[in-house]
This record gives sequence, structure tokens and C-alpha cells, in this order.
Amino acid sequence: MKLRPNKENEPIEIDLSAKQINFQKNKTFYQCTRCANFVSPKMELIIDWHNAQAHDDLSPGFKPVKGTAVSLTTLRYAANYEPRLTI
Ligand SMILES: [Zn+2]
Repeated sequence: MKLRPNKENEPIEIDLSAKQINFQKNKTFYQCTRCANFVSPKMELIIDWHNAQAHDDLSPGFKPVKGTAVSLTTLRYAANYEPRLTI
């Protein structure tokens, strides 16, 4: 599965039995320290996108986290399907 396919397209594995997300490619990621509910291997995604969406563009806070697994507390999944045109 890909995490945020339109923004970072990060390959991940979701392990529901262990309640965690495993990053497949990166061994360091960044976590928002304002809410601790957003992680990304791309620091700029927290600063530029998440902080605006979730925290009204207040000063961003984040910390680097080493490892490949993140604890999963809430899972929101959205599948976007592009309509097919038939001519
Ligand atoms: Zn946050």
C-alpha cells in the first residue's frame, strides 16, 4: 500500500494485528510534536502541508524518529478512483 499517494507515495505495510505501520523504504521519519498523529519520511510535508491543514499554520513542531515502525492508533483509509471515459 502507498501512504498519501498524491503527496509522497511512500510504500508501507499496515500490520493490524501488531497495530503498527511499517515503512518499507525509509529508516527515519518525522513526527509532528504538536499532535503526534502525523508521521512522514518527508520533514517538509509536516512543515508545509500538515501544519497548515491541522494547526492553522502555527509554528511547526516535529522530531526525527529512527526505525521503520509507527504505532497505529487510528486508521483512515480513502480510495480515490478516477472515472473512466468510454468513447
Ligand atoms: Zn500535528
